[in-house]
Amino acid sequence: MTSTTKAPPLYPKSHILAASGVAALLSLALLVFPSREVEAKKTYINLELDNGAEYAELQDEPDSAASQVRQSPFANTAAADTPTDNEPQPAQVEEPPETDPLQRIVRVENGDTLSTVFAKVGLSATTLHAVLNSSKEAKQLTRLKVGQALEFKLSTDGELESLHSKLSDLESIALAKSEKGFSFKRELVKPEVQTTYSHGVIKSSLFLSAKRAGLSHSLTMDLANVFGYDIDFAMDIREGDEFELIYEKKVVNGKQVGTGNILSARFTNRGKTYTAVRYTNKQGNSSYYNANGESMRKAFIRTPVDFARISSRFSTGRRHPVLNKIRAHKGVDYAAPRGTPIKAAGDGRVTLAGRHGGYGNAVIIQHGQRYRTLYAHMNGFAKGIRSGSNVKQGQIIGYIGTTGLSTGPHLHYEFQVNGVHVDPLSQKLPMADPIASSEKARFMQLSKPLMAQMDKEKSTMLALNNQR
Ligand SMILES: [Zn+2]
Repeated sequence: MTSTTKAPPLYPKSHILAASGVAALLSLALLVFPSREVEAKKTYINLELDNGAEYAELQDEPDSAASQVRQSPFANTAAADTPTDNEPQPAQVEEPPETDPLQRIVRVENGDTLSTVFAKVGLSATTLHAVLNSSKEAKQLTRLKVGQALEFKLSTDGELESLHSKLSDLESIALAKSEKGFSFKRELVKPEVQTTYSHGVIKSSLFLSAKRAGLSHSLTMDLANVFGYDIDFAMDIREGDEFELIYEKKVVNGKQVGTGNILSARFTNRGKTYTAVRYTNKQGNSSYYNANGESMRKAFIRTPVDFARISSRFSTGRRHPVLNKIRAHKGVDYAAPRGTPIKAAGDGRVTLAGRHGGYGNAVIIQHGQRYRTLYAHMNGFAKGIRSGSNVKQGQIIGYIGTTGLSTGPHLHYEFQVNGVHVDPLSQKLPMADPIASSEKARFMQLSKPLMAQMDKEKSTMLALNNQR
């Protein structure tokens, strides 16, 4: 018999909104170090309230000697935080010494337009019009920012030969006199990618310690996501937790202009150390694995019922067999005899075990920060399964039934990542699978040196600390 569900969306609409709010708050959860174990819901509220205070705290907190950043020996060590290009200059028109006397540099000041800038170097309104009418792109030149430098090159009779201006470390625009007036060019600089080692010890929150260790907010979020299954950053972070990572740094002319991927990382949470290595497989998909090549997310069982068959797949719009309407099926249905055990897909905390509208008897499990699974239409719950209880992967949480809106015994199973339903059967999900055995050797060739490098960097750092 084919079982069908008329399951409503996982949550009423308002709850979906609330859930996305919670997802946003969860990202804020990184910012705050919980001083005690509190019930999850309460934490989120606290987080919301604490957020402003957290930023205020940034200035107050003294630097911790335990937390520091060190450049990789092969990284360019030029200071990245002192841009000199945009500093205001005393003179409006600079005559650079020992350079081309026909060159003029103008720094844009408040109230300047391209017209006033042209006037400063003695160029006529006619030239300005010729420049602006030379191409559509050339009009970009009119978008001036205070402090922006425009480098003019003039001919001996004072006419415009070329104009160059750097918009950012990665982008410049240029104009040159050509046979047919002026030609415009946009130049993009490809940054050099270097690697950097960084280490920190958590004093009050991951966010603050990471900031002290020189990590940007987005890199900190990346780090938290890498360990998102193993560590619940909202609840589990403790003072003394430690992290280290090797990540990519984008550099232009010795100046850091951004960061790239985390290549490897280690996180020690309450005395237990987790490792992560980024690996791109032969198909070109990148994912994080622990140093031995096991998936960071292997803890999920893809199918939570043994000896079942899939009676309905995940779809964002299927034609409902009874209602004959297109509606989403945000889960997978497994048909199995009544009483068949249902297993927790991964370690986690039960956030609901009880009646849940059309879902009938349902269990919702939160796995770390990002993942949530739902099991519906159960006949009954396994012993000890109630809201707030912790479950281990594979632990029996309940039994197949047909409670709620269901026409026959089956499990309706949903999987969420950051509050968004995903197909648990999708191969795109970066969760279930360890490194392919055919790629294991290739992975280890990458993993071993990265781990060794972190060992070396850390011992060098500790030795330096001891000398002080
Ligand atoms: Zn279903």
